[in-house]
Amino acid sequence: MARGSAHRRMREGKPCILCGGNRLSEDTEHAPPKSLFHDKQRPQGYEFPSCKRCNKGPAPLDALAAFIFMSGRTEALLKTAAFTEHQMNLARTVARNFRPIFAKVENADIKSESGFIIAGAKLLELTPEASKHLATWSAKQAYAYWYHHTKQILSKDAVVGIDILTKCNEDDDFANEVARLLGPGHSMVHAKKPVDDQFFYRFVRDEVTEVSFVQAVYHKNGGFFAIIDEKNHHPEVLEKTAHRFQTSDNKGIHRIFPKERSAVLYGPRKS
Ligand SMILES: [Zn+2]
Repeated sequence: MARGSAHRRMREGKPCILCGGNRLSEDTEHAPPKSLFHDKQRPQGYEFPSCKRCNKGPAPLDALAAFIFMSGRTEALLKTAAFTEHQMNLARTVARNFRPIFAKVENADIKSESGFIIAGAKLLELTPEASKHLATWSAKQAYAYWYHHTKQILSKDAVVGIDILTKCNEDDDFANEVARLLGPGHSMVHAKKPVDDQFFYRFVRDEVTEVSFVQAVYHKNGGFFAIIDEKNHHPEVLEKTAHRFQTSDNKGIHRIFPKERSAVLYGPRKS
């Protein structure tokens, strides 16, 4: 009850942060969602005003993200006996709603879909469909984290490029990659770690180019990275990302690239 009224105060009179700012919020969006955390111990302060349409987003997508990121270690996947009840529930939801989600499980050097991030570890390769679903989920997180840092709503002009990481470490490879990409003079900002190992992210914004970067890691298993071109003035920095999104009043966050995949964003499994 107390929390409910705190959430109401947080969003009162504010627009939804996920669809460009023209619709009034009616709900509280949790990004990241509760299901991603053991015992629902999610970080405080990551609640966002959202309209019903944007918040409703399919619950199975949250389950898919939580399942992959909480169970991403190959050993865990091969030994479901080690799963908690929560993970088993996630696994059931994923099985009911999605086609097979892993294309490959093996030892390998890890790269993101477009080649960023390299670390020696076990590789989990997602199917294109699962990676598409996760990218959509990640885009929503990216909009929320951007708002969290800038206190502004990402506009309808903004283009958000997403790459899914199915295994990544908190090493410096990413920081180096970002530094190379953004050029000299930009430093990584380490976010606080509100829930220990369960959630970690980095956010960096270049005020000159108005390009931002987010890397989010969940349970040290995986996550995403996002390049946010706030005014759509630097399409070249997005060229390497595997998925791209924009938002609008009527559609909310939606895929703009690759376009041919846009018809199959999410849906129940067909037999
Ligand atoms: Zn909305």
